[in-house]
Amino acid sequence: MAQYSINYPCGHTLTEQLYGKIDERYRTIAYRESNGLCGECFAAKKVEMRAEENKAAAEESHTLGLVQLEGSEKQVAWATTIRKKSLDEISEQFTEAMMLQFPAPERAKFEACVAWLHSQNQSRFWIDNRERGAQGLLKLAAIKTGALAA
Ligand SMILES: [Zn+2]
Repeated sequence: MAQYSINYPCGHTLTEQLYGKIDERYRTIAYRESNGLCGECFAAKKVEMRAEENKAAAEESHTLGLVQLEGSEKQVAWATTIRKKSLDEISEQFTEAMMLQFPAPERAKFEACVAWLHSQNQSRFWIDNRERGAQGLLKLAAIKTGALAA
């Protein structure tokens, strides 16, 4: 157990405790000094990236004419990003070309499900269902719209 002074590329020098074999410690130092951001800069970078992702999702959603989500500012920012990813995933998995091969009634059901998803304007809905993925969301929509039972 020893303390090492590590000069991060972000310009911060930190004194850190390293464990393990000596050569492993030096490998860790070399790695951190060539590639790493210090913990604080890494955390700041993540926050910044998330904010950028949220901003991009909000702009794209606005361009696409998606409904404005409701909820706290934080929820809306997060949910807008989740919704954008989910709807993108659906259009990637179910392309228009593919839809044209579906019989018309099937296509109508699918479109009703997508429309139902588009009408979900509560941030909570997108946050609560964020793990479902494209298929899961469509299945939920199918149940809610009655498309599955019909
Ligand atoms: Zn730093």
